[in-house]
Amino acid sequence: MAAELIEVTGMVLAASPVKEYDKRIELLTRERGRISAFVTGARRVNSKVSACAIPFTFGTYYLYEGRSSYNVQSAHIQKFFSEIADDFDILCYASYFAELARYFTRENVEAPQELLLLYVACSAMTRGQVSLPLVRIIYEMRMMQIQGEALELFHCLDCGKEEGELKVYFSRGGFLCRDCAARSVRPEREKGYSLSGDAVYALQFILTTSLSKLFSFRVSDTVEKELADFMKHYFEHYLHHTFQSLAFL
Ligand SMILES: [Zn+2]
Repeated sequence: MAAELIEVTGMVLAASPVKEYDKRIELLTRERGRISAFVTGARRVNSKVSACAIPFTFGTYYLYEGRSSYNVQSAHIQKFFSEIADDFDILCYASYFAELARYFTRENVEAPQELLLLYVACSAMTRGQVSLPLVRIIYEMRMMQIQGEALELFHCLDCGKEEGELKVYFSRGGFLCRDCAARSVRPEREKGYSLSGDAVYALQFILTTSLSKLFSFRVSDTVEKELADFMKHYFEHYLHHTFQSLAFL
């Protein structure tokens, strides 16, 4: 009996050579999460399947399920981000985004939101309307939200107050006002992270705006730097992991 052909929508996160003419790819798919697949003949000249084994290619993939891996039979490419390979800065950011997506996804756990976020972030970088560091901030923030680790940045977690001095307490997951922090957080354990009004506004916008409109706003260089520093602390608190591709950013 012939093996069943499986259709998935996905984006190539990474590719490595296998044997003389083949490639093994890591594919982030909507339906089956992150899977690995072999592309037989991907490295042959004039191969029909070589383009579908290039990182950041997005499309519909037709696969056979093998014992320990999938095999790509064919693919219908919907988007080929040639700009990513042509621009070293974009490539470095895209590689980091792919590594982050890889970290948060696994096989057989569908990943529609992670896939869409990666796709729109790659599109945004190639359009060039938003600076690369800001694309990164948006990508990281939304990825944490997808993972259920979004911070409460609209009001105090304990009393609901929206005005006055609100600081971020990572151990609590968001804002606390001065009174509530004094009551529930020992200052020697966590001081609270102060953000400027502009930075708070930008982060609120990132958390609530639809993906289609998200990569269109701008912030000043000062706010961008402030946000990048904030994200660093945020990640250090929640993810005890070193991303290899960060060495290039
Ligand atoms: Zn409070």
